[in-house]
Amino acid sequence: MNVDVLHRGGAVKALSRLYRLKDLLPADALQDGRLRITAAELEDRALRLSLDDGTEVTTALPPAETTTETTTEATAETEATLIVRNAAQVLTMEGDHGVGLVEHGAVVCSGHRVLGVVPEDTAMTAFPLGQQHAVVDAQGGIVTPGLVDPHTHPVFGGERSVEFGMKAEGRSYLEIHKAGGGILSTVRSTREASFTTLAQRCAKNLSHLLSWGVTTCEAKSGYDLTLEGELRMLEVLRTVGDCHPVDVVATLLGAHTLPPEYADRREAYVELVAAEMVPRAAAEGLCAYCDAYCEDGAFTRAEVERIFVAARAAGLGLRLHAEQFTDQRGAELAAAMGAASADHLEAISPEAVAAIAAAGTTAVLLPGAALACRCPWPPARDLLDAGANVALGTDLNPGSSMTSSLPLMMSLACMQMGMSCEESWRAVTRAPAASLGLDGRCGRLAAGAQADLVIFEAPDYRYVPYHYGDNHARVVVKSGHVVVNRWS
Ligand SMILES: [Zn+2]
Repeated sequence: MNVDVLHRGGAVKALSRLYRLKDLLPADALQDGRLRITAAELEDRALRLSLDDGTEVTTALPPAETTTETTTEATAETEATLIVRNAAQVLTMEGDHGVGLVEHGAVVCSGHRVLGVVPEDTAMTAFPLGQQHAVVDAQGGIVTPGLVDPHTHPVFGGERSVEFGMKAEGRSYLEIHKAGGGILSTVRSTREASFTTLAQRCAKNLSHLLSWGVTTCEAKSGYDLTLEGELRMLEVLRTVGDCHPVDVVATLLGAHTLPPEYADRREAYVELVAAEMVPRAAAEGLCAYCDAYCEDGAFTRAEVERIFVAARAAGLGLRLHAEQFTDQRGAELAAAMGAASADHLEAISPEAVAAIAAAGTTAVLLPGAALACRCPWPPARDLLDAGANVALGTDLNPGSSMTSSLPLMMSLACMQMGMSCEESWRAVTRAPAASLGLDGRCGRLAAGAQADLVIFEAPDYRYVPYHYGDNHARVVVKSGHVVVNRWS
């Protein structure tokens, strides 16, 4: 079998069903979180990889029935294989509030799991040491769980810097539209782009997220808006997610905007999404969630409801772009239908704040989009005071939030949205993990959690949102492996 990793998505998909590729990749295949593989060949359980500098590495695959998860479980409670020590602070994120602060702590991991967070003076003795174990020096920085970004759009063709320039000059939406800008320009570029181009761009976006400390992200389709094209976007996410250190939770966003060919037939497009896209994406296991954009000029509450009924029937979780510019009562719909999250919420009503708090629907706030679109800040304080689970996302996308810095979102939340530093940390760890059904697995540092963590060069956890715009992440560990290391 000859597999060209980023060129033939279907073949990689078949391979990745048998193996969790990222757990098996040799260290050489990754550099600063960047995937260096240009081609791969599988022969008799030997995976031969060609790297971007022309060299080749070979790695042996275990029998397909022995999954990495099983191997992990077997070693999970035994010996330390990675010790992260000399931290001024460890943020475990345990407990219902605050950051679960452990001063002068160390994190001990075994294989892909955390064994425990222990005092520094017992770092090397708290657990039996594995024959092969690595010690990573946090150099007096802080150690946190790998960050979780609950809202990204990392698969797209083209980019819109010219449009950004026009907006900066105060040109109107209509002028930008006439010049070929807006979301439909991304739809055109995405439809024209090859699978390879989309996969490479997606991998680059995930690497940017990783460089800021993100180890798990939610990621949406939504820039093709045809049946096959939306499935292709989800296949890009699966292919790249299987090869990249960042874990990807995929979401179908067929109802992102009305495609031009359906301009006069919006009911037909809603029907296409509900009756064909959703069941196909769910049946092929391409996504865990279904999202829609409920907004004036996008989709109405009734149209979203039609799509959500289909998504729920297909077994998908629900997420919703709601109340970004106007109050469409989308958040109430999300709450009533048991959605995992309602996102944006700049224009949410007080009644809807209470509704999503009561329903346990996570409020995913996107300060980057509010900043870029010059919207009022979403009412984080009201949501938190009402008891809502509040998460922060980058909304990484080419139109309204071209950033991959989740720490910058924390800074904006602290400086402009009335959130405390502690709340901002929870909003990029525990809260988004819960909204993705991953609480316990990521977003915290505790025994049994996935060994995803970040070392920030910072004397105190408040330093990260305080010293905004700079990247303080120095080391990122994913599933027990150091995938980014840039101590200087
Ligand atoms: Zn979005």
